[in-house]
Amino acid sequence: MLLFATSRANAADTVNVVIKLQKTNPNQIAVSITYPKSDADRVKLIFPSYLPGAFNEVATGNLASELLASNVDGASLALKKLSYNEYEIETKRSALKVSYLINDSWFTDYAKHGLMPQMGTVFKPEEFFLLNLGCVLPFLEGKEKLPVKVSVSKPAVLNGFSPLRKSVDAQNAETYVASNYLALIDNPIVFTNGYEITFRSGGTVFHCIANAYGKLSDQLLMKTLKPVCDGITKFCKGYPVKDYYFFILLLDSNDTKTRLSEEDFGAMQHSASTVMVLKNYQDNYKLQREIQATASHELFHLFQPLNIKTDLNSKLNMRAKVQTAHLWFYEGVTEYFSLLMQMREDLITQTEFITEMRNKMSLMQFYEPFSLTEQSEKSLMSGNETVYRNFYYKGAVVAMMLDLRLLELSQGQLNLQELLLRFKRSMNENYVVKDEELITELVRISSFTELNDFFNDFVGGTKAVDFNKFLPLIGWIYEPIREDTSQMYVNAAYRYDKGSKNIYVTNINIDQIGIQEGDVLLKINNKKVYKDNIDELMDKISNTNYNRSVTFLVKRKGQELKLTGKPLVVNKTQRNVVKVEKRPAPDKQFYRNVYKSGQLSTGKPYRLLN
Ligand SMILES: [Zn+2]
Repeated sequence: MLLFATSRANAADTVNVVIKLQKTNPNQIAVSITYPKSDADRVKLIFPSYLPGAFNEVATGNLASELLASNVDGASLALKKLSYNEYEIETKRSALKVSYLINDSWFTDYAKHGLMPQMGTVFKPEEFFLLNLGCVLPFLEGKEKLPVKVSVSKPAVLNGFSPLRKSVDAQNAETYVASNYLALIDNPIVFTNGYEITFRSGGTVFHCIANAYGKLSDQLLMKTLKPVCDGITKFCKGYPVKDYYFFILLLDSNDTKTRLSEEDFGAMQHSASTVMVLKNYQDNYKLQREIQATASHELFHLFQPLNIKTDLNSKLNMRAKVQTAHLWFYEGVTEYFSLLMQMREDLITQTEFITEMRNKMSLMQFYEPFSLTEQSEKSLMSGNETVYRNFYYKGAVVAMMLDLRLLELSQGQLNLQELLLRFKRSMNENYVVKDEELITELVRISSFTELNDFFNDFVGGTKAVDFNKFLPLIGWIYEPIREDTSQMYVNAAYRYDKGSKNIYVTNINIDQIGIQEGDVLLKINNKKVYKDNIDELMDKISNTNYNRSVTFLVKRKGQELKLTGKPLVVNKTQRNVVKVEKRPAPDKQFYRNVYKSGQLSTGKPYRLLN
């Protein structure tokens, strides 16, 4: 009886949403929302301009069409469009119902809404519907705090997955509830004919939902994602959520009507999920790498990095821009940690790590001179969106240099990871750092005032980063440009798979011997190839003085093949080379071990023994 009374009382104070996935036009879904009675004569219906997890302004309202307002008896109410995201409705002080259609953002001109597919809506009626709820549902000013109930009617073959609490009402009907509007739009719902695989890592249950099990087996998906989650558990000492969802939607080229660029794909993180919309590479190995790198980056955002909360990023304003001088930090440190963790966990090799950082060095040079702080503040202004990319490049490179500087100052007792974990521990529920004091606070917690110079020069200022001031600490040497002549049999990337211990050949751009994408490299001239000797073996046979014939033994589709051929002699000009010293001095070896393992020196600082 009591329960009945409570639920009735709640019903009157709940926003009720009805979504119909089955429409005659496959690129649209139908939505209607009923709001409790209003005391105001006029109310504003607002589609959010900022979505949780995204930094750029979006015109979500432009996905809606045929918007109508009525009272509960069906009498229509006057409606005025104030802007692409906002409407004003004359309520006549009654309960209000709005109904409209939502278009597929992927099939709608991007310039009209600014929504990447992972932030928007993608409908593929036979296979899946991606609903990022911030693009589907507006809020009614003054009613944001009310609980929301979303009833969905759907094809019986599709099932819905979401971090939101769900109940199944019938074969073709499901209901989702959220405690308020913000909690609602922080979560997507994905309807798919695929199923869910789950695994546990560090006290968190991970749910993976993908649309294309044909090419991507569930074992492969698990094998790709679990090591990433385990690596981050170790790196960040646990997760802030109990359940986490990966939504992995793969699009074939014929699914992409007008836009085909790889930059159109990507991922977006929410408090309890990541939505990935990726190109369905034919090569499983490539796909696996893409999912691994994406999952790692997005999961690290849970810590933003490492759970840093400032007064700005701990609350979300859905209508106004949130400017922060530290955007570079949230993106750059996330990107850097993601790569560092993958190297530490053997999910990528040291060579791959260095290649990634070298690419970032080259790309950041296009933007120089570039103040990370200034550009962070400006990047939200329209016209400045492209500078955001440099936070992945310069932001990540500067984060690495900061990490090395910290190791040096502390003699191996403090790194960037530990500094941010300390920062996190220093905060509690009631204490958030003021956004403009983030750097000051980091320097204070580190106890190294010398860091102020680092931040002034390379973060606030535009001083060029001299990599040879930082990298030699761990016995890595930077060369801005290197020209040499070498003989080349294959030019490709060699990727190590931790599970199988296989070394795969991928990204082939020169091939003299008939090697193929995805071949497993077993031996070079009868020498067995390992993750730790491959660079050395390649250097040896690339030397123009090496005049023995060279044979590669590879495994392709279960068969072993011997491949040989004449090398190509090439003059190479390489930029931003990072050379790893083979036998570093003991102090460099010490720092290298600390850097690569993440095991900080606890006892005495390092001293040279004479
Ligand atoms: Zn990111």
